[in-house]
Amino acid sequence: MGYVKCRSCDGLGKKFVQHTGPGPWFRTTTKEYPCRACDGTGINQRLYQKTCEYGYCSEVITYPRDATYPPKYCRTHKAKIAEEKAAKAAQWQTKPCPGLLCFNTIKYNVTWDRIPDLCDSCRAKKKQEREQRQANMREKPCPGYNGSCGNTIRWDVTKAPNGYELCRSCGEKKKTEREEKEKRLRANEPIYREKAIQKAKEAVREIVKESGARESGGETRYYQTHGDQRRQGLTQSTDADVADGVSVRVKSGWSVKEQKTVTDIYVYVKGVRGHYHFVVDDEGNELIDEWRDKD
Ligand SMILES: [Zn+2]
Ligand SMILES: [Zn+2]
Ligand SMILES: [Zn+2]
Ligand SMILES: [Zn+2]
Repeated sequence: MGYVKCRSCDGLGKKFVQHTGPGPWFRTTTKEYPCRACDGTGINQRLYQKTCEYGYCSEVITYPRDATYPPKYCRTHKAKIAEEKAAKAAQWQTKPCPGLLCFNTIKYNVTWDRIPDLCDSCRAKKKQEREQRQANMREKPCPGYNGSCGNTIRWDVTKAPNGYELCRSCGEKKKTEREEKEKRLRANEPIYREKAIQKAKEAVREIVKESGARESGGETRYYQTHGDQRRQGLTQSTDADVADGVSVRVKSGWSVKEQKTVTDIYVYVKGVRGHYHFVVDDEGNELIDEWRDKD
């Protein structure tokens, strides 16, 4: 293979011409000439031949000797390869990167199992962010709420510098209990209010009892209140829990409006909005005796 035999002389390099001479003998003679088409070489001077390189194809391809790029495949396989190439090219597609402020294009092959959702630079950025997030993570065992839970508390120091007290499930448990307690308190509000009034009345008696001692040499402090211009001299202020869920705050001082020393008694009930408000003078006269909805 390679050389193509000369078609003119069928590769012999020479030609024969027969002469049948005139005369009575009719002798036939054969004369030989070198083939002019191939210069007597028997080889085609302009063409080469080869077999198709595709698989086991045995198709012979003839092509010019001076071809810069000799063909590799027969006509059928050339077409087939071009078709395959086009199909392969069609499998490559592009899409814009959905990354924030990213204008890159993602090139992918439809046959891939995993088609990237971000461009290389966005992916690198995301990876770095993830590593940073992991570096910011802290963890500690949950102390549990009403019994141990065995959970781990994880938190991001950039979001919660001090971490969390409880794990999510214990936190939920605590929240639910608090809500139930508040509900219970609200349901008992009328009862607590009654109790508050009762306690307040007892407190008033105590204050009135003590007022004599206060006047005879108790400490007197002067202060300026922000909102209440009536009070100018405070002589006593106490906060005390007088019963479970009930606290009393007492303030005594000079009332400009009443022109005498009065005592304000605020009675607060845990879980109940508002307070009971008493104002009594040193003789024990009740000047104000009412429930106020504001705290
Ligand atoms: Zn020839
Ligand atoms: Zn072929
Ligand atoms: Zn991107
Ligand atoms: Zn827990």
